Amino acid sequence: MCDICNSKETYVKDYEHIYEYKGKKIKFTAPRRFCSNCNNLVYDKELDNAVGLKAIDLYNKKYGILKTKIINLRKKYNLSQELFSKIIGCDKETLISYEKGTIIPNDNHILILKSLIENI
Ligand SMILES: [Zn+2]
Repeated sequence: MCDICNSKETYVKDYEHIYEYKGKKIKFTAPRRFCSNCNNLVYDKELDNAVGLKAIDLYNKKYGILKTKIINLRKKYNLSQELFSKIIGCDKETLISYEKGTIIPNDNHILILKSLIENI
């Protein structure tokens, strides 16, 4: 339902997003839900969630490190998430989020991960 006009009629269309993380701009198009009456953005749990994940994924691809590279590195050495997180210097929960792609790794962890990938 629309917060502005209370209309229940909605539609989905592609919308251009510009996100900014750590001074870097991420631009992409993704579907969002709109009010048919006033064209205001309407909350849609699934679509809005996907937008957040896409933004993180694009940032990681361009400036950070991809979740698949983190997983591959850890599996290459048969390390548990517990042990691998200690090597990187983060807690296990953080590593799990990195591997799921739900957060952007902090700059320190990006540097450590990249140097591990490049040097071994
Ligand atoms: Zn509306």
